Amino acid sequence: MTRIFSGIKPTGHLTLGNYLGAVRQWAEVDQHRAESLFSIVDLHALTVDHDPGRVRRLSRQAATLLLASGIDPERATVFVQSHVDEHARLSYLLECVATDGEMRRMIQYKEKSALERARGGSVRLSLLTYPVLMAADILAYGADQVPVGDDQVQHVELTRDLAVRFNQRYGHTFVVPRATYPKVAARVMDLQDPTTKMGKSGDAGAGIVYLLDEPDVVRKKILRAVTDSGSEVEYDRETKPGISNLLEILASCEGGNPEGLSGVYESYGALKKDTADAVVEMLRPVQEKHKELVADPAYVEEVLRRGAERARAMARPTVDTAYRAIGLLPPV
Ligand code: ATP
Ligand code: MG
Repeated sequence: MTRIFSGIKPTGHLTLGNYLGAVRQWAEVDQHRAESLFSIVDLHALTVDHDPGRVRRLSRQAATLLLASGIDPERATVFVQSHVDEHARLSYLLECVATDGEMRRMIQYKEKSALERARGGSVRLSLLTYPVLMAADILAYGADQVPVGDDQVQHVELTRDLAVRFNQRYGHTFVVPRATYPKVAARVMDLQDPTTKMGKSGDAGAGIVYLLDEPDVVRKKILRAVTDSGSEVEYDRETKPGISNLLEILASCEGGNPEGLSGVYESYGALKKDTADAVVEMLRPVQEKHKELVADPAYVEEVLRRGAERARAMARPTVDTAYRAIGLLPPV
């Protein structure tokens, strides 16, 4: 059976980009077609300047939102990365297979390290090695598919390279995974700057829709989205990045495709109104379920406890095999 692994970092409140690009796919499609693991990858949240209490709160909130989005803990394994030691154990072995040149070529490292420096901070070594930990997350479970937004392409490619290299050097140990993307909304852009990705760790601004934004806030943000010159509502990401982003969001909410909506709207205003309505309606059940789950923290905790137990049992044999294969003496 196909096995799927994917994760989300507790670096900020979940956004519409996270939902359309990843979480909704996990809930509506992936968990029904494959054995699935979805992780709150909290160790990754420590790679940039962080507040310990906030990371803990966001981890709980992310877990609650995954469940509120329809991920069923009877079907999928939902767990917190740091509850399973195997991730860090395997990451070290993979650091012995990866090269520093490979790490420095990662686009996300270049972008996030530049941002840290611009803020006057220093760059944590873990930001550089982050993709190796991500490779460990995936390889520890023998996952064959990794459903992600398209900003993760390069990291999944690296994961494949490390798996192949390890297998060639030390004998077959890892499944070589591949990334899968949603057909629409694989990269939702910031509403105020449609040339940059909507990201949850960005400075909270009018361009980011959060899953827990109140309906009137969602409406306001979408109605105020930056649009392009001209007045035709056409899908062209090069010349009309703002309008194309809205078309992509609307199409994704409706289960259609953005090209199909080209020419349907007579004005930017009409498109914005329908997009705002569609997003509000899509988020409504998630927000309602979230409210119920917040009232029952013991349930969420129990889901995470059971999830970690299951994840540990799945990861341990693979990671133990990797330890032996690379030349470490088994403990007596
Ligand atoms: P950060 O800014 O901390 O990197 P993020 O919003 O990019 O946060 P991640 O935890 O890095 O969120 O990613 C979780 C999942 O959401 C990944 O599969 C990622 O590809 C997807 N994703 C993130 N942002 C978007 C977006 N704007 N559009 C589509 N998918 C996205
Ligand atoms: Mg990201």
